[in-house]
This record gives sequence, structure tokens and C-alpha cells, in this order.
Amino acid sequence: MKIAIVGAGPAGLYFALLAKKHQPQHSIEVYEQNPADATYGWGVVFSDIGLNFLREADPEFFREFTAHHERCDYMEVVHQGTHVQIGGNHFSRTSRIDMLRTLQTACERLGIQVHYGRRIEDVNALRAQVDMLVAADGGNSAIRTQFAEHFRPSFERRRNKFAWYGTRQLFHPVSLIFKQTPHGVFIAHSYQYSPGLSTFLIEVDPDTWSRAGLDRASEDESRAYCAQVFREELGCHELMTNRSLWFEANIVKNEQWTHQNIVLLGDALRTVHFSLGSGTRMAMQDAIALHRGLVEHPDDVQAAFAAFEHERRPASTTFQASASRSLDWYERVGDIMHLNPLAFAYHYMRRTGQVSHEDLARRDPYFTAACEAAGVAQAAQSNATA
Ligand SMILES: Cc1cc2nc3c(=O)[nH]c(=O)nc-3n(C[C@H](O)[C@H](O)[C@H](O)COP(=O)(O)OP(=O)(O)OC[C@H]3O[C@@H](n4cnc5c(N)ncnc54)[C@H](O)[C@@H]3O)c2cc1C
Repeated sequence: MKIAIVGAGPAGLYFALLAKKHQPQHSIEVYEQNPADATYGWGVVFSDIGLNFLREADPEFFREFTAHHERCDYMEVVHQGTHVQIGGNHFSRTSRIDMLRTLQTACERLGIQVHYGRRIEDVNALRAQVDMLVAADGGNSAIRTQFAEHFRPSFERRRNKFAWYGTRQLFHPVSLIFKQTPHGVFIAHSYQYSPGLSTFLIEVDPDTWSRAGLDRASEDESRAYCAQVFREELGCHELMTNRSLWFEANIVKNEQWTHQNIVLLGDALRTVHFSLGSGTRMAMQDAIALHRGLVEHPDDVQAAFAAFEHERRPASTTFQASASRSLDWYERVGDIMHLNPLAFAYHYMRRTGQVSHEDLARRDPYFTAACEAAGVAQAAQSNATA
């Protein structure tokens, strides 16, 4: 089969790698608008349980992929200056550029041609030359827009503002830091992803953002302001910028996942929110499912697409629903800032409705025992049933 992939992010590259490695008869070319070393942001975080799928799909690549990951098996919720640790939460972190380099190297080894600096403007000419066209062109997918009447995408722009910084302060556990300021609540999602760097993603609601004057601030003024808000946690370290502009989450869904010989993959297909750290994982799981569809139906594009959608649609829908509840929680966090640190951390852990008290007890029985002893779990239960 002749396959063209638009977009050399994790979805496009991982699909290229799996398809070529396990079915070398396919001819695969990848088109990427940026140069090979372009990236935004700092680190990427995966939940470690979420990485089992990579081990199963390709154990050899899994070893390569995770060789330099930073790991930690607990997280911290920092509220009112108190650090509440919750065990049994395994996270694996790496820099986004290293992750992409590992994928690029593995693709090169297999002889896959990746055309960097090639933006596909009109996909019609390309799709006429191939059997399958994979639109892995990210959250702003131009291919999805070109065929919008077929894919029928919907968009939900969420209200909170985000800015993506790095810092040399090392946050060994994934740390969620909540700060009440005179203008409102600021949240930092922080984690170490390399021996010397941490990601520090700031989230703030739009009213707090405007009251703090950040609607009028330059990139550097915003950086300095946020560093001041989190001075206690950052210690003597500063925040660093890398196109750290304020943005809002745009949640994308598509009614149709395929059109003729085109299939949407990764963020082009659906975005989840990084409050669950799972965009990259979902993109790579899509790649695995499409690869499996192709293994089952090596000569039948439509059957391969149907198998892909059959495997991924339920998981994708469930996940987007819990990501949406997580977003709601962050957007309404101001209402529960009065809770004591333990009650607050418990509330956080149960925010998506997917994690029961028993699930939490399996992860960290000390945490749930402390919550029970303080009456936190019972209070949350009666609020939920009220
Ligand atoms: C601020 C922020 C923080 C995030 N944090 C995390 C995190 O901690 N953990 C996590 O798992 N995920 C995180 N994500 C999400 C993650 O980055 C994405 O979900 C993931 O990269 C999706 O992979 P993808 O391959 O589908 O798309 P992308 O990585 O967006 O790749 C798409 C590629 O297509 C290329 N392209 C687009 N249009 C064209 C065209 N017309 N022609 C050629 N090339 C084109 C782009 O240049 C890009 O390289 C975060 C996202 C953001 C915005």
C-alpha cells in the first residue's frame, strides 16, 4: 500500500514506524511543515500505567523510547502551602524534543522518508497519488478544515488561560500548586522532565488574569509576574520562556473519523486536555490502532479504517468526557479553595468521577486512611449523594 502521512508529531511518526517495521511492503512518506528540530514547550508527561500500551505494541521501541525518562511514583497537591503526597501515581517524563528525536531516528533507520519543511496546502493532489492519507496534522488540522463538511468537527473553547514555562527548579513529583492571590487563584502544573529542567505550566481563570493585568502584559512581564506568584516554590530559580504566550484549550471532536482514503489521527481527530497529561498518549494509541487495522486488512483501506474506529471510538469518547470533567474542576477551583489541604487533595483526586475511593485506597492506603480519619472521605461522599 502507498501511504502518505501529513504531520511528523507523535501520531504521524509512531504510525509510520509501526506500519513500516511490521509490514515493510508498504511505501510510506511523511510530510512535515517544520524543520526536524522545531518544537514548542518543554516536557511531556505520561502516566506510567498509560505506557504499558507502548510496551505491548513494540517492546524494542518501548525500551528506546523510555531510556531517558524521568520517573516518580507519587504526586503532590500543594494547597495553602502544605504539600500533600499521594502515592501509587506513576509518571514518566521526558522532553518533547527528545521524544520526537527518538521517533525520528527510529523512522530513519527503517528508511522512511520524512520531508521536513514541506507544508501540504491542498491535500487533493497528494491523496490522489496514494492508497491511504493519514491526517496527523495536529489540533489545527488544515485537512480537517478542508473536508469539514465530511468530518463535521466541533470545537469547544474553554475559558481558562494557560502559559507554558520552564524552570531550573526541579519538581521531582508531578506537583499541582494552587495559590490564592488578591486577584484570584493561580495554578501551576509542574514536573521535572530532564536532569536539569522542569515544566511549569500556569493556569488561571480569565477574570483573575485580567485583574492581574496579564491581558496587557508582554511575554516577559507575564513571566516575571507568574514567577513572583510562585516565588516560594521556585526558590532562587526563574521561569524561562519559549513562545510562552497565553492560550485557551480548544477541545476538538469529529463526527466522522474518515473520508474516502483519508483518516484523522491524534490531535487532528480529537484533543484532550493536558490536565490529564494524555494528548501524546492518545495520539500514540491511535497510531497503534490504525497499525493493527492495517495488519488485519493489509489490502483494504476501508476495512482497516473500520477496525481502527471500532477499537478507538469508545475509549476516545470516555476519555474526552473525563478530560472535560477535569477542565470543569479547574475552572471552578475558586469555590473549594477554603477546603483544608487534605480535603482539597482528595477532591482533586476524585475530580473526573473515574477514580473511586477504593481505587484511591489501592493506590495509596495511607492517603485514604488519613482522609477517613479526618472525615474527609465521608464528607465528600455525602456531598456527592446530596
Ligand atoms: C501547552 C501544551 C501542553 C501539553 N502538554 C502535554 C503533556 O504534558 N503530555 C502530553 O501527553 N501531551 C501534552 N500536550 C498535548 C500534545 O502535545 C499533543 O496531544 C500531541 O503532540 C499530539 O500529537 P499529534 O502528532 O497528533 O499532533 P502534533 O504533535 O501537534 O503534530 C502535528 C504536526 O503536524 C505538522 N503539520 C500541521 N499542519 C501541517 C501541514 N499542512 N503540512 C505539513 N505538516 C503539518 C505540525 O507542524 C506538527 O509537527 C500538550 C499540548 C499543549 C498545547
